[in-house]
Amino acid sequence: MKQNILKHIHEMDGYVPGEQPQTADYVKLNTNENPYPPSTAVYEAVACELERLRLYPQPMSDPLRDAAVEVYGFEREWVLAGNGSDDLLRMFAQVFLSEGQAACAPVPTYTLYRTLAAMQNSRVIEVPFEEGYRLPVERLCTSGGALLFLANPNSPTGTMAGSGEVSELAGRFPGYVLIDEAYADFADENCLELVRRHPNVGVLRTFSKSYALAGLRVGLLFARPEMTAEITKVKDSYNLDRLAIAGAAAALRDREHFERIRALVLGTRRRLAAALQERGFSVLPSQSNFVMASPPEGLGAGEMYGKLKERRILVRYFERELPEYLRITVGKDTEIDALLAGIDEITEGG
Ligand code: PMP
Repeated sequence: MKQNILKHIHEMDGYVPGEQPQTADYVKLNTNENPYPPSTAVYEAVACELERLRLYPQPMSDPLRDAAVEVYGFEREWVLAGNGSDDLLRMFAQVFLSEGQAACAPVPTYTLYRTLAAMQNSRVIEVPFEEGYRLPVERLCTSGGALLFLANPNSPTGTMAGSGEVSELAGRFPGYVLIDEAYADFADENCLELVRRHPNVGVLRTFSKSYALAGLRVGLLFARPEMTAEITKVKDSYNLDRLAIAGAAAALRDREHFERIRALVLGTRRRLAAALQERGFSVLPSQSNFVMASPPEGLGAGEMYGKLKERRILVRYFERELPEYLRITVGKDTEIDALLAGIDEITEGG
């Protein structure tokens, strides 16, 4: 039956997400989830929806879009909801990346972009970041890419380009620019306003990190109505379920809880970076809820990843993209204590 499989799908690799152990006995610092629970308003909103599960949800997720209108000040037509921001990324590629054209991205970055391009029988032109993970503006603009994926703050580095520089890039780039702001709530600034300034820009947000709702699967795309209208054509009729719409809307409106858990994460990020530096790690400046750190001389990052895992501490190791670094999610202080104790044991010859 192989003849019925599209050749480019058969030949591509699927995306492999980070490990999701199904037991609770890990200190889980590998996929940038929030260590704190979501707002209690989420539980109440989800519980209220349970009795309506018999009915289909609102197809455009309007109750959630209305909350986004209140919080972000964009009109409804400028907002599109996705089943996680990965869903919106996929739809964006489906609409704006055709066979015979290529996307481009500064690398190393989120490797899903490569998979999404492959699904379109296309590819990503990979343009390495400049020294210090600065944006390669000129080389991106002349790369020949018809669509630019820009994770900002970037993953896995955690570094960020300023909005002025991104605006310059968007103004010059000869195609659509999708700014993936999965981690922007942990950064000093963001690029959301560029959506109004540049007709070729879309900005993506997720509820998986700063709202502590990775399990609910919700993302938002902010873009001009002309863009969201096109993408709407390829979305599942009911791409968000009732629980996701109600839960995410409630999370968005609870600004106090959002600010509280963000402050906790930022405090622990400072502490984690300093503690790693004290231990001789080289640490990239993080604008995210994770820290990218390279162990001191003599200790391979891959080896340390393995030894931490033996101690049931899970961090992320990108063997291909950044083999000298470990990406460590900012967990609770107690989880960071366990991580540091594990590192100390390993470096002392354990
Ligand atoms: N973009 C980036 C840069 C990410 O790291 C992630 C998380 N893996 C996502 C998007 C996807 O987030 P989600 O689908 O959970 O909204």
